[in-house]
Amino acid sequence: MAILSSDFSSPAMVADTRGRHLRDLRISVTDRCNFRCTYCMPKEVYGRDFQFLERSQLLSFDEINRLVGIFKHHGVEKVRITGGEPLVRRQLERLIEMLAQDPSLDLTLTTNASLLKQKARLLKDAGLNRITVSLDSLDEAMFRAMNDVDFPVAKVLAGIEEADRVGLNPIKINMVVKRGVNDCAAVDMARHFKGSGHILRFIEFMDVGHTNGWQMEHVVPSRELAKRIDKVFPIEPTQPNYIGEVAERWRYKDGSGEIGFISSVTQAFCRDCTRTRLSAEGSVYTCLFATRGSDLRSLLRSGASDEQISDVIANIWRTRSDNYSEVRTAETAKLRKVEMSYIGG
Ligand code: SF4
Repeated sequence: MAILSSDFSSPAMVADTRGRHLRDLRISVTDRCNFRCTYCMPKEVYGRDFQFLERSQLLSFDEINRLVGIFKHHGVEKVRITGGEPLVRRQLERLIEMLAQDPSLDLTLTTNASLLKQKARLLKDAGLNRITVSLDSLDEAMFRAMNDVDFPVAKVLAGIEEADRVGLNPIKINMVVKRGVNDCAAVDMARHFKGSGHILRFIEFMDVGHTNGWQMEHVVPSRELAKRIDKVFPIEPTQPNYIGEVAERWRYKDGSGEIGFISSVTQAFCRDCTRTRLSAEGSVYTCLFATRGSDLRSLLRSGASDEQISDVIANIWRTRSDNYSEVRTAETAKLRKVEMSYIGG
């Protein structure tokens, strides 16, 4: 399906080689983070001397806004702001404000909540709809060990409370579960958020990037975790909100809310994957486990027109065939895949 008209008012949906439409755009606004989570940005790799992107290498807010306009033309309805840690990018609320000019856009953000207490009101007023918080344990020692910068749980919980207070809800809480590290904390997490209105999701430890030392035996299959939770708090599966939803939804039988399981390792969901990712320096990655991206920044900065960029994006998606989770092996886990901190989860 060729992109002919330059009339950006009429959407030009594109489908990939498996008939999947482009719907979700995840935008990393920085490769930096103030945490060093061991499964994402291990300190041994991201130490004091690590060369992060220079400010001039980052897409500006105007460039991001322009690209979002073009992606919307191809069907994007949902934008998730990520990082690294997006709240370390200064004045992020200005970008949110620009993107929120289109009220039809579902605008959300994923954060470690370290700066959320200070920023929640600004983000809400700028037009952010919802928020997802990463929190891997309520156990102080365990959490500090996992974020590896000694950051206290209390400050994350204070950020969640403030986000809830200003109306950035329902809040989703993402817990990456690693066997022998924090899986024993899963039931306590469920107990804490049960009945709160927030939606706790358990994420299977994934072989993202090539620096987190992933091994299959560190993975707790979601089915196993669901059984553990069910023993204490009876749960049952419930209907997805939409096709392509990442988390498998379950609810507490006593009606006190829902939880989710994101099972990229044991229950691949590539069949309905409608997601693409934009790195902080303007490259498109069509899969979380991609080994290479396509550069859009040089087009933006060399005077290419929206139509030209639009054609490039359409072509990237049209030729997409990603299904990494369906073909994952111990060998593929060793591939030099792009780091999650570079393109967002
Ligand atoms: S592995 Fe890639 S194609 Fe599959 S669901 Fe994840 S991002 Fe989509």
